Amino acid sequence: MATKRPVALVTGASSGIGEAAALALVEKGFEVVGTSRNTAKVAPRAGVTFLDLDVSSDDSVTALVQQVIDRFGQIDVLVNNAGIGSSGATEESSVAQHQRVFDINVLGVVRMTKAVLPHMRAKGTGRIVNISSFYGFAPQPFMSAYIASKHAVEGYSESVDHEVREYGIRVLLVQPGATNTSFEGNLVQPDTPLPVYESRRRIVDQAVGQAVRGGDDPSVVAAAVVTAATTPKPKLRSPAGPFAKRMSLARRFAPARIFDQQIRKFNKLPG
Ligand code: NDP
Repeated sequence: MATKRPVALVTGASSGIGEAAALALVEKGFEVVGTSRNTAKVAPRAGVTFLDLDVSSDDSVTALVQQVIDRFGQIDVLVNNAGIGSSGATEESSVAQHQRVFDINVLGVVRMTKAVLPHMRAKGTGRIVNISSFYGFAPQPFMSAYIASKHAVEGYSESVDHEVREYGIRVLLVQPGATNTSFEGNLVQPDTPLPVYESRRRIVDQAVGQAVRGGDDPSVVAAAVVTAATTPKPKLRSPAGPFAKRMSLARRFAPARIFDQQIRKFNKLPG
């Protein structure tokens, strides 16, 4: 069933930012395919077709992209939103846990990008919008696996954007600030907790949890996704929401020493 409307594919659209982005793209006139690892559990959303996808599986990604093209004839916009967070000092998390975070947050983006690029290149047009984070340019202790994964998404996206721009394709980054979703409930927890880090880890977990619960509504990020997907001259990086915009400016213009102090202060670490 080819469609006359542009087609957007949003990974991890069962909740939070992905759900809001899928609905905002429907509103903007897109035919939207949203994904979940378990579509049987997803409540129907008007205008969104849900299909199964696990971004950590090569086979699942290949099958999903083929299914979307067979069913809708094209993919104009891919939103790589699926992702998970992590908690714990690096000493407290096994290499396997770091790999799990990277398999979803980084290689998930790589798998999806590689699967849609031949199709977009043949069409001579396409947008890939990668959901990074203000943690794609800022550090956060006790979340280092997650932070490293988002920094990797930044470098990957900017590099691939240069490779494909001459073929009518852009790879863009949306950088949310703390956003009120179930993100905090889906953190990979440390598998070897150490007493030496326990109290600091708890303080940081609390601070991050508070920031997420009091964070932006997912619709703030969804609006930035729609702009990246549709504006004629998109920006490579779009911080979404007031906090992410402030952080982006601070990272660029504040002296490194001041930025470092602010990170320690936020996390109640000794000066
Ligand atoms: P949610 O936990 O609400 O959403 C995460 C989504 O990812 C779910 O829809 C889930 O779908 C999907 N997902 C998880 N693992 C996989 C997998 N292996 N394969 C496919 N889909 C998967 O959190 P958010 O909405 O907050 O997170 C969305 C994105 O926003 C993430 O990339 C996150 O890093 C980023 N972000 C979030 C911020 C925040 O403060 N909330 C701040 C900055 C960035 P399902 O379980 O149905 O498969």
